[in-house]
Amino acid sequence: MIKIDCIPYSLRTSVPFGTAHGSRTHTDIILLRVSDGKYIGYGEGSMPPYYDENQQSMLDFIKNVDFQRLLEMDSISAIHKYLETLSDTNTAAKAAIDIACHDLIAKRNGSSVTAMYNLQRPDFIKTSHTIGYASIEDMAKETSAKADLPILKVKLVGEGDIERLQMIRSIYDGEIWIDANQGWSVDILTDEFVSALEKANVKLIEQPFRKGDLKSVKHLSAFTQIPIIADEDCQRLSDIDQLGGVYDGINIKLMKCTGIYEATKMISHARERGMSIMLGCMTESSIAISAAMQIAPLVDYCDLDGNHLINNDPASGMCSDDMGHIYYSDQRGIGAEISPDIFC
Ligand code: MG
Repeated sequence: MIKIDCIPYSLRTSVPFGTAHGSRTHTDIILLRVSDGKYIGYGEGSMPPYYDENQQSMLDFIKNVDFQRLLEMDSISAIHKYLETLSDTNTAAKAAIDIACHDLIAKRNGSSVTAMYNLQRPDFIKTSHTIGYASIEDMAKETSAKADLPILKVKLVGEGDIERLQMIRSIYDGEIWIDANQGWSVDILTDEFVSALEKANVKLIEQPFRKGDLKSVKHLSAFTQIPIIADEDCQRLSDIDQLGGVYDGINIKLMKCTGIYEATKMISHARERGMSIMLGCMTESSIAISAAMQIAPLVDYCDLDGNHLINNDPASGMCSDDMGHIYYSDQRGIGAEISPDIFC
């Protein structure tokens, strides 16, 4: 007998998380458990407050899904076709269902989701770790604490960025990625600013300008060879065509694109256009991070530290070490499960 449990949950961040959108101390998510009577699939939907989805809209969407029908479908593409008939939006709620269905179907097949897509797992994945935007003193403290990690993704906002970047470079030798979360404007792109980015050996810049401002992206790319990656500008498969030739790459997140299935389509489509791929995340538990890890062999950059930023992970499975490496669990499906008491 089919049984569906879906509950709201709040992930607490270990330190306040600052970006160009503001600072927050928690992210509301939903946790999903789908049982077909024999196997259980786990899913998660997470959206930061600046996207048009919240716990209630995710719960409402999931309430309207005919899971009986869904679990009788023979393919993930048929499941997605059905979900798209219910709404054009609700990407995080759809991602929760996509993850749970992948988990359950792979378990039925006795395999991992990685194997479902005929992918070879590496021994571990190297992920970036985020330094949230804060005062120079606080960012220095956080950088020192993470100084042994191989990649830091630094959240910047426009004003005071160069001093922050120079401070980080003075105490950190690893790879630096910048995420401006739409916070920059072309006015700040002086020769001095761009040469400071290059001097700090910035490896990539994510979503520098507000969504839709492709003209400014072209302007920046004329100034520098540093790759520019679309995040807020690239949510779904249909966004990619207009970004080719403007951005060097895209940041795919399961929560923006309805899950693993569409993410794999986006990867193929972007590759055909010569674009590089980052696999990113929202603030998420080990469920959604483990799900994303399943397709990590297909991408160039992994930014999967969402579960490192929280101190109340409701799930277990994957694990990580102090070197910024994350490891797959041996479990089937997505390789993670939600603690049963969460649903009591
Ligand atoms: Mg971003």
